[in-house]
Amino acid sequence: MAAKLFIVSAPSGVGKTTLVKELLKRYPDLVYSISHTTRAPRKGEVHGKDYFFTNKAQFMEMVESGQMLEWAQVHGNCYGTSGAFVQEHLAAGQSVLLDIDVQGGRQIMDFGLDSVSIFIMAPSLDVIEQRLRGRGTDTEEVIRTRLENAIGEIAQKSFYTHVVVNDVLDEAVAELIAIVKQETVH
Ligand code: 5GP
Repeated sequence: MAAKLFIVSAPSGVGKTTLVKELLKRYPDLVYSISHTTRAPRKGEVHGKDYFFTNKAQFMEMVESGQMLEWAQVHGNCYGTSGAFVQEHLAAGQSVLLDIDVQGGRQIMDFGLDSVSIFIMAPSLDVIEQRLRGRGTDTEEVIRTRLENAIGEIAQKSFYTHVVVNDVLDEAVAELIAIVKQETVH
């Protein structure tokens, strides 16, 4: 088994969280990188499991002291990946999965870090809009911003090694698993 760094990106509303959860359930050796964020926790989210929830000052302190492998502002909040976390697991021979936005994914690709990048798409923008509305957690303004961002993110999918369309969940999960297997088993 080769330890690999997997980057999974998708516009919000594509169902990435569900897909990633399914992938981790079926592929428990994959270590999920818990990001730091200045976003407020959503209902049910747990500090240290879903995210490390921090304030802006703490976040910027981590950025300025060089602790972030990558970071970006997404939908008005800051999100970042701890470099030490990723390096420790890779050094221990464990593959790591980053669930990060396109800006963060591009930063890692630009550093030239060896990684396998996967972009998850929805069958159409209408489907993304329906999913964002169906979630019932966001305001109209948030939904509009996320849709606009989705268009910009989709435009960058060609930078990714693999593109998976999440139309039928089980099929998309199977495709993800096949990619991880193909990239880690030698
Ligand atoms: P949400 O607020 O819905 O959990 O996440 C919003 C977006 O931020 C998602 O696209 C998610 O992948 C991205 N994100 C989460 N953690 C990180 C991170 O550490 N770095 C970057 N660049 N994006 C992140």
